[in-house]
Amino acid sequence: MVAGGARPGAGTQSLGPLLNLRLAQPETIADLRHLPDYAGVTRAGDVVRIGAGTTHAAIEDGAVPGRVGEIMATVARRIAYRPVRNRGTIGGSLAHADPAADWIGVLPVLGGSAVAIGPRGERRIPLAGFVTGIFETALAPDELLRAIEVPVLPAEARWGHWKFCRKVGEFSKATACVLAAPGTPPRAVLAALDRPPLVIEDAGALLADPADEAARIVAGLGEMAPWRSALAQAALRHAATAAGAP
Ligand SMILES: Cc1cc2nc3c(=O)[nH]c(=O)nc-3n(C[C@H](O)[C@H](O)[C@H](O)COP(=O)(O)OP(=O)(O)OC[C@H]3O[C@@H](n4cnc5c(N)ncnc54)[C@H](O)[C@@H]3O)c2cc1C
Repeated sequence: MVAGGARPGAGTQSLGPLLNLRLAQPETIADLRHLPDYAGVTRAGDVVRIGAGTTHAAIEDGAVPGRVGEIMATVARRIAYRPVRNRGTIGGSLAHADPAADWIGVLPVLGGSAVAIGPRGERRIPLAGFVTGIFETALAPDELLRAIEVPVLPAEARWGHWKFCRKVGEFSKATACVLAAPGTPPRAVLAALDRPPLVIEDAGALLADPADEAARIVAGLGEMAPWRSALAQAALRHAATAAGAP
């Protein structure tokens, strides 16, 4: 929420349904898409900066350069279907923080930060801690998400992403993403589990023994329906295997 009962709107792909269902009743909607430089991608040194207003479709079509861009294009292509991707934005998706959404289950493995802007200026929030709960983020009520900054990845970086949905366009029932880049411990995220994403800062054990470690990680999340536990373990195993695990 920004000042005066106004609510920011970007692609309105999530805000629209909230308004239709009267779950949100803002006095005013501030259309962020008119802000200068709100969308678009730039590279400065070893950092790629993705404007919060960049659409899933632009990312799918290759707006983000290099190895990071390859990963993000693959993830974007799996979000809903093209009309949703044409309007939906990466910033809107992160700020909305739906536990089943795709970007919150992937961006933390890339490292880097969310750039927030508000009355006190800009601040950077690590992506690994940006989502703090179900539909909750580390943004203050008077802040907007301005951009996402992620480090450039070497071409040798290996990664895997796996999500389960019963049909195209549905939200995921389990998502995992694993990234193994030279010089840093491999990272993993497990998401879409009716809880905030689980970020695993050192996923070395998962890459060494995907089946046993996936079972251990999921058991550590506590009570869960058997089908959900099985899907979560499958997501971790498949993502780890795609990232180079035996
Ligand atoms: C049919 C359908 C299927 C979908 N399937 C998927 C899917 O499979 N995977 C997936 O990840 N997503 C899915 N989505 C959601 C889609 O990706 C949305 O684009 C996304 O969740 C929200 O982005 P938006 O730009 O539309 O944000 P909006 O709907 O405009 O805003 C969403 C929320 O974030 C706030 N907000 C927006 N921008 C900012 C900002 N810069 N700073 C602070 N707050 C902000 C708004 O106030 C609002 O509360 C689906 C949507 C639809 C309609």
